[in-house]
Amino acid sequence: MALSLCPKCENHSFEMVEVEPGNWRFKIMFVQCTSCGTVVGTMDYFNLSTLIHELKEKVENVENKLEDIEYEIVLMKNNKK
Ligand SMILES: [Zn+2]
Repeated sequence: MALSLCPKCENHSFEMVEVEPGNWRFKIMFVQCTSCGTVVGTMDYFNLSTLIHELKEKVENVENKLEDIEYEIVLMKNNKK
């Protein structure tokens, strides 16, 4: 496997740094050289797969509650007959 190299100083190690760029309302993550700070990549501040997984759990929770409500409505209708 090739060793990753900073294009400016040829250092081999990198780090994630949280930044809030001007004129932008969201934080992002810079992948930068630990030696000279040259930015070699960017990532979203929030991990999207984690957010999607959390959202899926919330949707499933709402679905379960709706099924409970539907069940209670059916019981109420049957009691009126
Ligand atoms: Zn560097």
